[in-house]
Amino acid sequence: MMPELKQFVPSSYCLKCRGCCRFAESPTIWAPAGCSLVKNNEGYRCSHLNETDNHCKIYKKRPLDCRLYPFLLIKRGSSLSLGLHKSCCFIEEKKPSLHDTRGYTDYLKKIVSTRGIVSLIKSNPHVAADYQGDVEIIAELNELYKKAYLPRLKRLTLQDKPLFDKYLRAHTTNLSAYHFVNIYIWKDLFHISWAIIENSLCVFYQDAIGMFMILPPLGKVSVEAIKKCFEVMNWYNQNSEISRIENVDEKDLAAYTRAGFKVKLKDTEYIYVRKNLAVLVGNTYKHKRASCNHFSKYYKRAEFLPYRPSMFKDCLGLYNLWMAKRKEENNDALYQQMIEDSMVSFNAALKSYRNIGLRGYVVKVDDEIKACSFGYPLHKGMFCILFEICDLRLKGLAQFIFREFCRRVDGYTYINSMGISDLDNLKKVKLSYRPLQEVKSYSIYQ
Ligand code: SF4
Ligand code: SF4
Repeated sequence: MMPELKQFVPSSYCLKCRGCCRFAESPTIWAPAGCSLVKNNEGYRCSHLNETDNHCKIYKKRPLDCRLYPFLLIKRGSSLSLGLHKSCCFIEEKKPSLHDTRGYTDYLKKIVSTRGIVSLIKSNPHVAADYQGDVEIIAELNELYKKAYLPRLKRLTLQDKPLFDKYLRAHTTNLSAYHFVNIYIWKDLFHISWAIIENSLCVFYQDAIGMFMILPPLGKVSVEAIKKCFEVMNWYNQNSEISRIENVDEKDLAAYTRAGFKVKLKDTEYIYVRKNLAVLVGNTYKHKRASCNHFSKYYKRAEFLPYRPSMFKDCLGLYNLWMAKRKEENNDALYQQMIEDSMVSFNAALKSYRNIGLRGYVVKVDDEIKACSFGYPLHKGMFCILFEICDLRLKGLAQFIFREFCRRVDGYTYINSMGISDLDNLKKVKLSYRPLQEVKSYSIYQ
């Protein structure tokens, strides 16, 4: 049911005027959406106009655009505003000031935000258009834009895992980001929300800086879905340069570049043959082997055990110890922030350990946890090691827990040790294990 709107221009004035319902060309954005135009002596007229008495034949049911005029819904990019068409004969003659229109503008702002009008705009999005010419913007309608044009975003919860797993499983990749664990554990640093857009699952991260996507739309690569995602991000971001899609696989890049998106390298992940890391044979691994042997020799009573949730506090304590030591060694502000953020995700990961599909082990020395490591299976052949935290004072412990973890996940052919986040030292360590392959991830910008 179309709501009746109070009219700004008195109908007695309009009935004597030939300004509306007639158009110089067809098609034109000035014609109300859904109305057909017919030729007349001056150009075109709306088929519902009775030219003899200048009445609208469907006045009671006329479209929203007709009810609003000379006010217009103006959509430009990711913004929506209320405009006034100054070429309306009444406006031209009376020249109302902003002060004169304020009361009516406030009335319209309120009424266009009601549920009825929002669903009208949703079902007929072309009611708002990029009107040019003698048009004055008189109010921003950002909230209306969100309600009418953007998909409703749902906050991520653990209950969403089965749906996410379905979409993630359908995407073949070796990049570690494509797993529920690696999405969910950042929930305390970002507001994580999602929506199904053009049949694709789209995941958005948002913090004080802005909004971005942690993964590309999951489903068949569709330019429409990507454009819609940027529309969502641009609406939330003050600066559209923040809008980006992270963790795009190399094999999918062509679809983005073809559609004119910009590509930037984000990170490099390292893939290893698991068996090599589990046995550490040959000259290549002699230093790693020596480190493991050193640890085994000096800490004979060390135990390698599966993680249990009762170990949560001790593992968190170990992270704090490890972080303090790392901060002492490296005072780079970015690095320090990174390991602090990582602690927040470590905490979230361990709290939901049982529910998100994480697997972990600890090393106890004299009944005290001195190292812990956690990971998850990315697909049938690949296991990702997500965290490895050690008491750095115990020589050879890092090499020992890594080797033992690789021995335990013997159902997987490959290990992904994750990215390097631009850290040269981390890169050196990853390379020292002789990766089989480097996998690059990319970010996409508009
Ligand atoms: S141009 Fe203005 S005054 Fe003329 S009919 Fe349209 S709304 Fe009324
Ligand atoms: S629907 Fe009625 S008011 Fe709207 S353009 Fe056509 S004739 Fe004019």
